[in-house]
Amino acid sequence: MNTYHLFLLPGDGIGPEVMAEVEKVIQRFEDEGLARFEIEKGLVGGCAYDAHGAAISDADMARAEAADAVMLAAVGGPKWASVPYEVRPEAGLLRLRKDLGLYANLRPAVCYPALAAASSLKPEVVEGLDIMIVRELTGGVYFGEPKEIIDLGNGQKRGIDTQVYDTFEIERIGRVAFDLARKRGNRVTSSEKHNVMKSGVLWKEVITALHKREFPDVQLDHQLADALGMQLVRWPKQFDVIVTDNLFGDMLSDVAAMLTGSLGMLPSASLGDLNPSTGKRRAMYEPVHGSAPDIAGKGLANPIAMIASFGMALRYSLGDGAAADRLDAAIAAVLADGVRTADIKSEGCTLVSTAAMGDAIVAALERTAG
Ligand code: NAD
Repeated sequence: MNTYHLFLLPGDGIGPEVMAEVEKVIQRFEDEGLARFEIEKGLVGGCAYDAHGAAISDADMARAEAADAVMLAAVGGPKWASVPYEVRPEAGLLRLRKDLGLYANLRPAVCYPALAAASSLKPEVVEGLDIMIVRELTGGVYFGEPKEIIDLGNGQKRGIDTQVYDTFEIERIGRVAFDLARKRGNRVTSSEKHNVMKSGVLWKEVITALHKREFPDVQLDHQLADALGMQLVRWPKQFDVIVTDNLFGDMLSDVAAMLTGSLGMLPSASLGDLNPSTGKRRAMYEPVHGSAPDIAGKGLANPIAMIASFGMALRYSLGDGAAADRLDAAIAAVLADGVRTADIKSEGCTLVSTAAMGDAIVAALERTAG
């Protein structure tokens, strides 16, 4: 039996509550004999600041580096609003992404049939939606230098950010997108603004050359990022995998995510290069939502985003697509049975707590055990 080493970072607010539900799912898979999971836990965010005066300790960073996969729930909250900037809760997240070199952010937007009516778009536009946005996460305008505000000396200031991409950065994110497409619908849409940005011209050139050289079997098209934004809300089902830069990806993945309903439903994965010590890709899995301090400690949080993030870990780090499919099916079955946490409740459904939602998903998994 394979042994997988998971490093869990529950973090702040609702983080520990939703992580507890993932632990039940992990236990269920272990009981079935799928694999052995070695679990370590650490601190990130406000709780790490309270314990160590840092948003993540060096010791926990080392554990994250050694793990097969890191599972992070959420960080932050009003309690830490005035801590120094370098040790604010989000600094822990950024350090994990940076030190683990997690350059590829995968955000699926899947619309479960039972929730199609909860979208702000018409049910027929979103029902059956299954797209994947691949966002470049460690380059572009959020990191490019110079990045500063300068005083022009005439009562004016100038704010400067720099959009910059090198060939290797575009190639490696492109490879992630093409590889993924081969396991899905075999189509990639690459998005930039080559009509007004030099980085967009290079992005399009590099993706086109990579496609020709290494992935001619995958269907590729290019769309300007503004046009893609329109298409995403007009007819999102036309897409399979979308690959784009850090800034456009930030916005477009939020738009795509909202097509499917609540923040409590949205998982994500961030992937890096192969880890030389484990031979596996460095990876962190986390829900898109934050620490939701308004509902923390009340049993109201929806654990599905966190549980579905573990599904992504099964698929992308542990190489078990069949187990991931079973977990997705268990979530869909529970929703189809009308079991709902407060954020996704509707008429005639059964309202349950965080823990009861986790139990229902584990029970649905049990029903499909081979
Ligand atoms: P949030 O995502 O925490 O919450 C936004 C709204 O969605 C709230 O009303 C909340 O109750 C609800 N919500 C979020 N997750 C839910 C879930 N699983 N189930 C049910 N409802 C859910 O965003 P926010 O309120 O803007 O931020 C709160 C804190 O989280 C801030 O400190 C922020 O910096 C931090 N944050 C952290 C991350 C992260 O850890 N990746 C991401 C976003 C925000």
